[in-house]
Amino acid sequence: MLKKIEELERRAGQLEPGEEIRKHICTEGYKYADDFISKLPGIPGYARREMRELRSMEVEENGKTMEQLLEILGSDVDYTGINSASGRHMGYIPGGGLWTSAVADMLAAVTNRYSGIAYSSPGAVEIENQMIRWLTSVAGYPAEAHGNLTSGGSIANLIAVQVARDHHGIKASNVEKAVIYFTEQVHHCIHKALHTTGLSEAIRRTVPVDEDYRMDTATLRKQISEDRLLGLNPFMVVATAGTTDTGAIDPLDQIADITEEYGMWFHIDAAYGGFFNLVEAVRYKFKGLERSDSVVMDPHKTLFIPYGSGVVLVRNREALLRSYAHQAAYMKDAYGTGQLDPADSGPELSRHFRGLRLWLPLHLHGTAPFRAALEEKLLLCRYFHREAGAMGFETGKEPDLSVAIFRIPDDPDNRKNERFLRVLHADGRVFFSSTTIRGKLWMRCAVVSFRTHRREIDIALQMIREHKDGMLSAI
Ligand SMILES: *Cc1c(COP(=O)(O)O)cnc(C)c1O
Repeated sequence: MLKKIEELERRAGQLEPGEEIRKHICTEGYKYADDFISKLPGIPGYARREMRELRSMEVEENGKTMEQLLEILGSDVDYTGINSASGRHMGYIPGGGLWTSAVADMLAAVTNRYSGIAYSSPGAVEIENQMIRWLTSVAGYPAEAHGNLTSGGSIANLIAVQVARDHHGIKASNVEKAVIYFTEQVHHCIHKALHTTGLSEAIRRTVPVDEDYRMDTATLRKQISEDRLLGLNPFMVVATAGTTDTGAIDPLDQIADITEEYGMWFHIDAAYGGFFNLVEAVRYKFKGLERSDSVVMDPHKTLFIPYGSGVVLVRNREALLRSYAHQAAYMKDAYGTGQLDPADSGPELSRHFRGLRLWLPLHLHGTAPFRAALEEKLLLCRYFHREAGAMGFETGKEPDLSVAIFRIPDDPDNRKNERFLRVLHADGRVFFSSTTIRGKLWMRCAVVSFRTHRREIDIALQMIREHKDGMLSAI
């Protein structure tokens, strides 16, 4: 047996590569990453390639070399589809990918701190909680508020919906009388969250929007009071601060008046928009954010962190803990540290040490460059909107945040715009996505990446100018 153990140890030893091999793997990975970053400004935002190598790959008994694997990433993964690290990605809501955050991820993975429970890693949990405290200050919440660093906005919204449900005592026996209000612009992850939390049978009211796609609060109030008269239980309003379609911000302060008056839970999905509250010039648009009961923000969007970073904040700390704190016999050593355990404010126990990917970039850079980048995005979007309008595109009103919409005018059946979108995708220099609002197809220009600057917007304008001229001369 001892011989066998020795033999197994020798074979398993590859899992702990020695210094030379570590250096080699790290150098190759570093070179690859550097090459990727230096290529980004010159390559398209969108491209399609075959994935032959990747498709034929199998996990085998014996390993491959780092060089072989990086080659497959280069040929079949990192340059196909939407280049989500590129400043030329202006579709959907682009993400970030700060390099300094990637370094933090590597350190978090190597040291493998257990960030679910303070007893296990008081330092890691302190970092998680300090980041939550900073985020509560961004939202304008009081310091006693609490939250959870999640993998993204969808899970963060799910947690908020569950806390609201529990706080208002919504259960199987009364769910059919529970009423939730939002607009047609609500993100679809809210519907998923309602489904996951057993609220599929609750009543959903789609409150109309005004011409700027913001919740019509007069109708909201009327609807709530009518529902009350019907003996229903209006318990939650979900507002959006920065809708996916157009970046519109619902009238948060007016909604807060209504939810306070009716004793309802006020949740704000600010996954995309929330961090613009860091920019002095647009802070007034978020008035009322600080009055909500819960809010979601996505550091992997407007804080430029790589994917895998959302946050939910809940004003009433006890409400959050009541929904998630659990005790188990096998965890008994972990109690009583005096620190708030991330495991008690969300569904996860073991989890990635997410705090570090915020902590390192925020402390290395300070907040000033983040504020500057966000303000730059707002102005770039307005610049795009103005120039697209001047080129003869139909444009929506001045963007609330950093999403502009544009379309070829006089196209009631959207045929020209559908063709135009296909042409833009085939070109791919810059990636735009589209949406349909009240039957009209619109192209969306979402300026969110920290790598989108004046140069990238000018490439985008040049691209749409060329194709618009080409299309009009073909008609
Ligand atoms: C992106 C987004 C979501 C979903 O967040 P994920 O991080 O993709 O899970 C929800 N709501 C809004 C408004 C968003 O922009």
